[in-house]
Amino acid sequence: MLDVLVKAEPILEQYIFTKKDGNKTIDFGEFEAVRALNKALLKSCYNITFWDIPPGHLCPGVPGRADYIHYAAEFLNTKLDSVKNLKCIDIGTGPSIIYPLLGHRIHNWSFIASEVDEVSLRCAKGIIEANGLGSVIELRRQKDRNLILKNIVKPHERIDLLMCNPPFYASIEEATEKSKRKITNLKLRKTDRSTFDGTKSELTYPGGELAFVKLLISESLEFRTQIKWSSALISNRQHIPNLIKFLEFKKVKEYSILKMHLGNKKLRILIWSF
Ligand code: SAH
Repeated sequence: MLDVLVKAEPILEQYIFTKKDGNKTIDFGEFEAVRALNKALLKSCYNITFWDIPPGHLCPGVPGRADYIHYAAEFLNTKLDSVKNLKCIDIGTGPSIIYPLLGHRIHNWSFIASEVDEVSLRCAKGIIEANGLGSVIELRRQKDRNLILKNIVKPHERIDLLMCNPPFYASIEEATEKSKRKITNLKLRKTDRSTFDGTKSELTYPGGELAFVKLLISESLEFRTQIKWSSALISNRQHIPNLIKFLEFKKVKEYSILKMHLGNKKLRILIWSF
């Protein structure tokens, strides 16, 4: 597999090293290495011929992001007539515009992609244009970071699935502390510029993940006639009971928690419908 990836993105070769057990790998803590791996994966598996993000931004792990698409599609398979050609919205698409790229390539979904950060929007625009995806991914700028769907979803627009990887942390201090812990857990060199980098705007929201997803739930209720299913990636499992209580308080019609396993990492998608 590594040979195929290096062929797709020769720059990857300089980041590959051999572990003590003889297997080859890359340093998953190094931004440039993961960016090169992403370019190779996107090119060879998803026919995305140009993809790049500026240093300092959150570098998405492609397999984990593809899992969100697969798990959501598997769930919706039992709810909708078909999971092909869905109309989706990705909240906080980031410079990588990763969910729209994967959702389109995997299931031919089309996307509205919202974002508050100007640099991310410029970068995402470049990726869309370079890959000729302007007719299936539409970027929309959210001017008020305290709003999610308002200003973005137009009257009478119909959306099958809302996806969101929310800003996780309440403050940059919390983000730095958690990143340090992750780096220690992965036994990465602490001096590395790590994949856990991310700008303040990417990582934080007042009240963190819990507050952002609660706002998303409240707004999705207001847009219930236009959006069939809403979902969000939940990184802190302790938030789940609180969010379920909030959904029930808002008289949600149906919800589910999709548990994803990637290596030793466990993530959950909360998906609901009003
Ligand atoms: N989807 C990308 C980025 C997730 S990080 C990925 O999975 O890698 C969360 C993103 O949400 C950041 O890019 C941040 O700028 C954006 N964001 C924060 N508040 C927002 C809001 N109110 N509306 C839209 N995007 C927002």
